[in-house]
Formats: sequence, structure tokens, C-alpha cells
Amino acid sequence: MWRCGRRLPCFLRRLNGGRTVVLQEQLTLVPFLPWISAGPRAWRRTGTSACERARQHEVGEQIHGFTVSQYFLFIQVTAIPELSLTAVKLSHDSTGAEYLHLAREDTNNLFSVQFRTTPMDSTGVPHVLEHTVLCGSRKYPCRDPFFKMLNRSLSTFMNAFTASDYTLYPFSTQNPKDFQNLLSVYLDAAFFPCLRELDFWQEGWRLEHENPKDPQTPLTFKGVVFNEMKGVFTDNEKIFSQHLQNRLLPDHTYSVISGGHPLCIPDLTWEQLKQFHATHYHPSNARFFTYGNFPLEQHLKQIHEEALSKFEKIEPNTAVPAQKPWDKPREFHITCGPDSLAAGSSKQTTVGVSFLLPDITDTFEAFTLNLLSSLLISGPNSPFYKALIESGLGTDFSPDVGYNGYTREAYFSVGLQGIAEQDTHAVRDIIDRTIEEVIEKGFEEDRIEALLHKIEIQMKHQSVSFGLTLTSYIASCWNHDGDPVELLKLGSQVARFRQCLKENPQFLQEKVKQYFKNNPHKLTLSMTPDDKYPEKQAWMETEKLKQKVDSLSPKDKQQIYEKGLELQTQQSQPQDASCLPALKVSDIEPSVPLTELEVALAAGKTPVQYCAQPTNGVVYFRAFTSLHTLPEELRPYVPLFCSVLTKLGCGLLDYRRQAQQIELKTGGMAASPHVLPDAAHLDTYEQGVLFSSFCLDRNLPDMMHLWSEIFNSPCFEEEEHFRVLVKMSAQELSNGIPDSGHLYASVRATRTLTPTGDLQETFSGMDQVRLMKRIAEMTDIRPVLRKLPHIQEHVLHCDNMRCSMNATPQQMSLAEKAVEKFVRNVGQSKTERKPVRLNVVEKPAPSGSNGSTHVSGPQVIRKLITDPTFKPCQMKTHFLLPFPVNYMGECIRTAPYADPDHASLKILARLMTAKFLHTEIREKGGAYGGGARLSRDGVFTLYSYRDPRSTETLQSFSKAVDWAKAGRFTQQDIDEAKLSVFSVVDAPVAPSDRGLDHFLCGLSDEMKQVHREQLFAVSHEDLIDVSNKYLGIGKSAHGLALLGPENAKIAKDPSWIIK
Ligand SMILES: [Zn+2]
Repeated sequence: MWRCGRRLPCFLRRLNGGRTVVLQEQLTLVPFLPWISAGPRAWRRTGTSACERARQHEVGEQIHGFTVSQYFLFIQVTAIPELSLTAVKLSHDSTGAEYLHLAREDTNNLFSVQFRTTPMDSTGVPHVLEHTVLCGSRKYPCRDPFFKMLNRSLSTFMNAFTASDYTLYPFSTQNPKDFQNLLSVYLDAAFFPCLRELDFWQEGWRLEHENPKDPQTPLTFKGVVFNEMKGVFTDNEKIFSQHLQNRLLPDHTYSVISGGHPLCIPDLTWEQLKQFHATHYHPSNARFFTYGNFPLEQHLKQIHEEALSKFEKIEPNTAVPAQKPWDKPREFHITCGPDSLAAGSSKQTTVGVSFLLPDITDTFEAFTLNLLSSLLISGPNSPFYKALIESGLGTDFSPDVGYNGYTREAYFSVGLQGIAEQDTHAVRDIIDRTIEEVIEKGFEEDRIEALLHKIEIQMKHQSVSFGLTLTSYIASCWNHDGDPVELLKLGSQVARFRQCLKENPQFLQEKVKQYFKNNPHKLTLSMTPDDKYPEKQAWMETEKLKQKVDSLSPKDKQQIYEKGLELQTQQSQPQDASCLPALKVSDIEPSVPLTELEVALAAGKTPVQYCAQPTNGVVYFRAFTSLHTLPEELRPYVPLFCSVLTKLGCGLLDYRRQAQQIELKTGGMAASPHVLPDAAHLDTYEQGVLFSSFCLDRNLPDMMHLWSEIFNSPCFEEEEHFRVLVKMSAQELSNGIPDSGHLYASVRATRTLTPTGDLQETFSGMDQVRLMKRIAEMTDIRPVLRKLPHIQEHVLHCDNMRCSMNATPQQMSLAEKAVEKFVRNVGQSKTERKPVRLNVVEKPAPSGSNGSTHVSGPQVIRKLITDPTFKPCQMKTHFLLPFPVNYMGECIRTAPYADPDHASLKILARLMTAKFLHTEIREKGGAYGGGARLSRDGVFTLYSYRDPRSTETLQSFSKAVDWAKAGRFTQQDIDEAKLSVFSVVDAPVAPSDRGLDHFLCGLSDEMKQVHREQLFAVSHEDLIDVSNKYLGIGKSAHGLALLGPENAKIAKDPSWIIK
């Protein structure tokens, strides 16, 4: 995977629904990242803690070839209480490898190794290498051990990333044996990879006949990275970010594309790849990182014995020199493809102004500039939001807006996208003027406080992937020899920041003057679409291909043909993975851990679920209201209603003051539409809106008061601000398509299969993207704004509401009072409303009274909608989009969660992915990804992602079904699929999210246990049975959708609808 920029793909979360609740989306604005994880069972542990053990290490102590580091002036074993961890820093004696261990009471242990990889051309050598080292190593010579380990492990995360100047290999797991297994595979892959020529061909690039078996078909470029990067550069935001970095830092490695430019990748040779590995993937150029509660000694021993002891120290010479500062500003103009929804809008220009900042290893300066950047651009009260976003000139900020600390020197960038070309100068003037104003006026004290509050709450909020967050957080600074431990001491940085402000009230204004106003290292980059862009890219590729082909001798051609066949043969051979370590099915926990829940009625009517958890002084509140009375014609507007509800003002607060209060008192407040499938029936579901927020214990009354105001008197009057919000979310949706095209395809394909699928398409599919685009382009937006109060009448009251609170046991009685007050304040709706569909069924959630041991108190009744008249039918849709690759989804209606077939299908999906589709679609087909999955709503999906093929992939889907029906898999294959499924089922759940399945979907731990036992019991016969019963043509309704360029074959086929 190649990673540039830092934006989290929030649209992915939006489509996924379910577990990852919108809370995080709000938090991503602040770049300090640490959402903290305690791991699921961490707080129950007794005995010597991980931190205590870590603190016992001494400077100079020898452990397995490492010395507890003496190279640094500060103490090497450091307690960091604000993050509840202890840092131990070491260096390896004979190679100089650096090592950082962060001990913390978290069972989700993480390992990563990072190499400084600083390429000097755009052939993508570090990226191709990142892929190729995972294709087999000395001790594990089988093909693709990395993907195979996904099926032999209970890992909670496995991946690899190529950044601009480093390559990172992280994994995490909760199982100690698994940790050792994965560590062994990772070390061997990184330090002793086979790097076979055929691996390079498969993963990097190759010339091959369109049909490898037929030398008469034309030669084309193929290869996973080649196609991946073609896909990446269909995304205009990525084109902009890439140019921004290349142009602002032109002196060294940042002037090239580490992931590879599709036109340069074919210049890379196998020899160059091996050479790059020898010089960069060496312990002397490596940084090791471990995190969690497993003992450090065991890690050190294994790393020393299996890797480091086999090397001598070298001088890697990979350091990035300082960028020479410019003496005057520069300007560049670039072009990109037209908007992916091709609405012909004239406003598609982007302009950004960027400034070079100091070296990121100056941690306090970096911290200050990061804060300063948030003050300048985050939220409706920030000066650039007011000046740029509210100017109405564009749709949203330009890509990479704010502080970017992922290169040796950081940079700050600000600008607008979605503007008219002639407004470029106006935008630049606004930016200059805003900087002047900030220097003159400074910032309101409340905004600074709100930001420091945000850091405080983020330090306390616990996520389940804290190890991963930490390794990403320190990677860049450490990569340039900065001190990662200093970087983690957020508490002392906050204190020092306060001190600076106190001593000098002009502190921040002076920084703005120094780094923005008086900084000649300033780049203005503008980007306009060119309708011919896709054709030009295709033409350049054709030229490159022609040039390559023309230079081939007949002998070369013969070799290419033979190698193509050899690769195909190798890919089709049965694979022996027995050299790889593996867990067994018996290593999986037999039972679900129980979560104690208590249900009580607030104001005598509204059910509230209380879940006492070690939440670290944070309270998590959620409310769900059912939408079953909402008229059909209002439904498409529910996502918009949700996205603006907490942003338009309420009660006496206008939208600016409301934003201020939300930042000062909470960690975020959000609403989102949900479609919750029933566990027992495919045509039954609940639709509603989930409101979620969290705050520090001390702010609970304030947060609940804000919710009361939002429910009782939301403001739907600020037309101008509404327009701003609509444009931003339309832009975000449209920009998200290249990254989540397969999800959009799947949602679309499900539309005609279940009522849930139909509603999902309305809420979060291509229909929604297009609706938002239309609204954003309306000249008079008031008719849409006027719909919102109508939705409000159906949603914002307690009639069909249930609430949940996750907090510490000590906080529970206060939480109870606060929610009681909220429910009394909000009250019932004034008019009795009839459900729009008559077939509403009341379904009690499992509780103590009907056999659930972990839930006490009265029953929660959910109002579900059934649609017995729904007739599933087949539909094929092709969305024409100007991409060079395709995204496909084929969906099949199968069995609901409670049905034993559901468990079999879940295992089958994993089995088909690992044993068939991965080879067909990725290895042979050259797509970035592809596979099968079963979702909670009982829809079985076959998909491909960034796929150069289309109809051939559909054939692969049907071959996969034949393969499953024939039952050509072994017990070992089934066990591996089970491990892989359980690593997802048993993924750690944060204290904030425990009990959520019961609250939202009425799933009790007993029901999960039943499902768990069904998963364990799935047999070879069951898998063949469900393949026959559901997957074949004519067995069950299928839906198909494709997002991608014009396609002659599909255009000729009348069974496809083209949009
Ligand atoms: Zn990649």
C-alpha cells in the first residue's frame, strides 16, 4: 500500500456503518492523533504491570545484544503518565539498529519495523520493494507468505506502507504465540526476502500479451503496483497533494513519487530493486518498535537471533539533507481529470498556498505550529474558514490543508477547491489578507482553550488500535533522527505552550509573522481540469508501451511470451504453505466474553442501557430514534439532515457559538442515519438516526444540555451557512469515490435484493452522491432547507428513542441523572404519528427476562419494519466514470445472521477469497484487490477494486462459485478460513463501544455465542451445501454493479443499465 497525505477516508466509515461510529470523524481534524486503547481485558489483569516491568530496566544493561540506550542525554527509561505508558529506548550493539518499546497495559500488542527509504526517481522502487519482500523469504519460501499468514493467525492488523521517505511494516495481535509467529515471518520477509524475478514481474510491472497464452494478442503493461498507482492518480486530490510536495521540496527525495509514476514504473529493473533492498533494508537503517503488555526481553531475543545477529554495521547514507530555503515565492499550474461525476460544472479549479516550516525534529516548534495550524483552519470559528469557506468562492478547502509533518521539513498549506478559474487571484488575496488580520488581532482565548481541551480528551479517549496510532505518530520524526519519546510527552508540551503564551501574549502572532508573512519559501499551486486529461494519460501510456515494444528483439519477445506462461503456471500451481507457522482452531477462545449491561427507564418511558467500563474519565452517550413514521419522500434527505444538525446553531447559540461550545465541552457531537438489519429475517429492519457524543466526566451536564437544545430548538435558518455545509459534503462524497468505488458498487448491487439494501442505496450509495451534487448546484437552496424541520418532527423527540451510556462505575449515578433530565427536557412529540407502513413489528431486545444473563432491567422494544411484498430481482448497473480502472460488486441474497447457513457462508467467503479469488483477481488479473464477503444483513458480495479488467473478472466470480461447489478445498483450508474469520469476530472492542451491538441491533452475548458455535461447527459438507443452495445462477437473486470507464462489451449487452 502506498500512503501519501494524511486524510483519513471518512467516507469509508460512512459506508461501513456499524461499529466505527462517527465520533472519530470529528476528531480527525486535530492532528495529535492519540486515541488511546486499553485493550479489552487489560484492566482485569493483576500482578506486575507491563509498565512496572519496563521501569526496572537500567541504562547500560545488556539484553540479547541490545544496550538500553546511552546515546541520548535524557533518561532512557521514561514514564509518560499522560498516555499511561513507559518508554524504553535501546540500540543494537553490533548493527546500530534503533529500538523503542512502549510498555502499556494493552493486550493488543504491536510490532513494526521501519526503514528510511529515500528514492531519487519515480520508478516506485521502495513501493515495488514493499510488495515484493512479502512474496517469500529464505525461511518461508512459499509464495505470498504475508497473505497466507492472514489465514494462519489471529492478527488484529497486518499491513505494509510506503511513505515518502520510509517504509513501515506493522502488525498487531492479542495472542503471544501469534506475536512470535508473525514476528518471525515479518523479520524474514524484511531482511531475507527471495526477491525472485517473477515476483518482481507480478508485483511491479511487466510486458505481457493481453492473453498470455496467445502471442498474437498485443503486448500490454501489467503488474500490481503499476495498476495501483494508475488508480491512485485518478484521484484529483492525490494529484494535487503529490505535486504540492514535489514542488515545495524540490531538492532531494521529495521531488519524486515514492509510490511510482505509472509512466516511470516501467523503467525499473529487477537489478535496481535488489540493489535498493541491500542498501536500505539493513539493520543499520532500521527502527524497531514494540508496544503493549508482552515482555520486552522475549522480543529482543527473537529479533537479535533471527535477524540482527546476522549483520554487520554499515553506513546507510539515507539521510535527507535540509531543503535550501528559497529567496522568492514560486508558482505552478497543473491539470487533472474532470470531476468524477462529470456534471460539467465550470467551478473545478483548485488553488493552494503553501509555506515551508522548520525541521520536524524540533518537537516543541512542531507542536506549536500544529496547534497554530488548527487555530487557523479548524471549525467555523477559524479565520481561514470564515474568510475562505464562507466566501462562497469554492466548495471546500484544498487538499492537505493545514500542518503537514510527514517530510523532514514540515509545511503548512491553505486554499480552496471547486472554484472558478478566474477566482484564483481572489483566493490568493484573501489568504494574504487573512494572515495580516491574524497578525494584528491574534486568537480568542476560548479557541485556544477549546483546542487544549481537545488534546486532553484525546489523550483520555481509548481506541483499540493505539499501538498503530503511536507508531504512525512517531514514524516521521524518528525517521529523521528526532526523539520519539520527546514527541510523546504531550503533557509537558501543553505546559510549555501555556508558559510561552503567558510570558508573551504575542507568541502565536509572532509565529504567523515569521512563518507565513515573512517567509519567501512560499508556493502557489493551481490545478484545473482538462477534459482531454484521461485521453492524454492513455496516449502517454501507449507511447511508453510502443517505445518499449519497439526496442524488443525477436528473442526478447520470445522470452516475454515464455515468462508470461511461466508466471501463469506458477500462479496456477497448488500452493504449499506448510513452512509457515500457524495457530490452530483450538487456540481460539471458545466463548464470547460477557459484557454486563443494565437497562432502566428514564422518565418512566425511555429505555437507557448503562454499561460500566474503564473509560478513563470519559462518558460516551448515544441515542437512537426510529424513523418508521417518516414519509418516503423525505428519506433521501435524512443523511443531509444528520450532517448539518449539529452545525447550524441551536437555542440561543448561533452556529459559531455552538461550534465553540461543542469544542470546549465535548470530544464531538454527531448524528448519522442507520439501517439495522434484523438478525432473523432478511426483509425486516430498523431505520433510524444515531446521535453520539462523548465528553470528560466534568462536562457531562453541559454536553446533555447541548443535546437538549439541539433536540428542542435546532436552527434551520442560516441559509448561507447551510449552503457552505452542503457544498463541503457533496465535494467530500465525490472525492471519496476513487477510494471506495467497490463499496459504492456493492451498495448499488444490493439495492434490488433486500429492503435494507434499497434503503442503504438511498442513504449512502451513488444515489445519495448524485442527490448531494444536485443540491450543491441549486441556485435556490431554500426548498431543501425547508424540508429539514419536517424531518425534525419525526426524529427529534423521545417517542421512539432509546439511549445508552458507557462510563466508569463511579460516574454512573451522575450519568443516570443527566440522561433523566435530558429525556424530561426533550419530551414526547406533540402530535400522534402513524407509521407510514402498516407492517411495523415490535421486537423485544434480549434481556434478563427472556433468558439473557448479562442484561438486567426492563426490555427494550425495537420497532422494526417488514416488507413482505418486497420481491428481490436481478439488476445490472454500470456507472460511467472517467477512471482508467474498474470497481465491481456482485451481490447475492442469502441468509440472515441467526441462520446457521450464515455462519457457513461467512467461512466460505473467506475461503473463496484466500484460496481462489486473490489469485484470480489480484495475482493473475492485476487488480489491487478482490474477494468475497458476507455482511451482517445476509448479502454475499464478490468484489474487485482498482481492476484493469471487467467482464473477465465477472467470469472469475462465476468460476469462484464453481470452485466452491466442487468442494476442492481441504480441512486445513477450512481451519485457516476459520482463524481468519475469528480474527475479525474477536477484534478488540474499545470501552466506548462495548454493548453497542445489543443497543443497536438487539444482539445479546448469548446470540453471539450461538453464532460462534455455529462458526466452529462449519464442515466441508456445509460449505458445499451453502454454495449449491445460494450462490449458483438461478438459486438466489443476484445484483451487479460496476463503476468505471466506457466498456464496449457491456454497452452491447442489453441486460445492463448504463448511468
Ligand atoms: Zn501498494
